[in-house]
Amino acid sequence: MGQDRILVLMEHENGGLAPISLKLLTVGKALAEGCSGVLCGCVMGRAPGDVSEETALYVDEVYTLDDANLSSYQADLYASALETLVKSVKPSVLLMNHSYENVELGPKVAHRFNSEFVPDCAEVEWGEEGRLLCTKPVYGGRAIAVIGVHGVPGVATMRCMTQEPLPRQGAEGRIILFDVALDSSLARSETLSVVEGESVNLGGAEVIVSGGRGIGSVEGIEQLQKLIHLLHKRFGAVELGASRPLVDNGLLPHARQVGQTGERVSPQIYFAIGISGSTQHLSGMIGSRKIVAINQSDEAPIFGVSDYGVVGRYEEVLPGFMRKLEEMV
Ligand SMILES: Cc1cc2nc3c(=O)[nH]c(=O)nc-3n(C[C@H](O)[C@H](O)[C@H](O)COP(=O)(O)OP(=O)(O)OC[C@H]3O[C@@H](n4cnc5c(N)ncnc54)[C@H](O)[C@@H]3O)c2cc1C
Repeated sequence: MGQDRILVLMEHENGGLAPISLKLLTVGKALAEGCSGVLCGCVMGRAPGDVSEETALYVDEVYTLDDANLSSYQADLYASALETLVKSVKPSVLLMNHSYENVELGPKVAHRFNSEFVPDCAEVEWGEEGRLLCTKPVYGGRAIAVIGVHGVPGVATMRCMTQEPLPRQGAEGRIILFDVALDSSLARSETLSVVEGESVNLGGAEVIVSGGRGIGSVEGIEQLQKLIHLLHKRFGAVELGASRPLVDNGLLPHARQVGQTGERVSPQIYFAIGISGSTQHLSGMIGSRKIVAINQSDEAPIFGVSDYGVVGRYEEVLPGFMRKLEEMV
């Protein structure tokens, strides 16, 4: 295995390849091209053959780890499986989507190779002497750090919602069935039951419509939900978000809070409605591709970071905006 390998951990969604994985592959592809290397996908699970075949349309090599012990996420089993694969394939870099699971899994894998793990990266690139450089916001988004990784493989989680999905490549990649022979006694936790709750996926949203203290009422949230309903006709994943006052007031659950003590998000479009733009809120959404702000005060700091801004009361701005949107979608 002479060439550098960039290994990307693929994720499943509804029996297929998760769209976020295609965006992560765009990052992996740039790294692979930067070192004339091989782009590889790792698909783990129980009988994940369909996901492997889909992955093969985008990468040079797919490593399929098919094992009953990998049917659902178990940190120690997943880490052991990846350890075995990494020992054999020897990738220079292991890329993962930024998620709660991968923030647990990544350091376990890096530690087994005496390497480094960098979570929550906005960019990764090659530096001098082929060192992996990871760029990420720090201090609640007030500063940007560039971290040089010495160990191999460099393990990083990426926020890549603003990336374009990787287009299919001409030839299909090779699918390699990789036997990891997992010992189920390695599992130190067991899922006893799954409690269905309101499913909020701010991290995976293409569009987020967030409300702040300026819309702070049930009626205000209903207006935002009407906008979300319309946007759903055009975009797949649209979520309702909030600044902290709406959560503190009990109007929305904490899972919807964006910011320093909430979620860090990077959708294609972020609507900030009735949100002033405190540093704590900005640190959670500054990575959005386009920011649209509606605020009655032209001095609101949110206008300093927004791509499009409307100065006005949301009650007056939103109806006209939604009428126009309805004509367009
Ligand atoms: C340690 C710490 C952590 C924090 N973490 C977070 C966090 O994770 N997320 C977060 O959001 N905050 C966080 N905060 C709170 C943060 O400091 C701000 O208080 C909060 O972000 C303000 O929320 P807001 O913009 O909705 O409210 P405000 O700052 O009160 O702004 C309301 C805005 O609405 C506008 N407005 C009012 N009426 C209307 C109307 N009818 N139409 C249009 N606009 C209108 C006003 O002009 C104003 O700009 C944190 C604070 C601390 C100290």
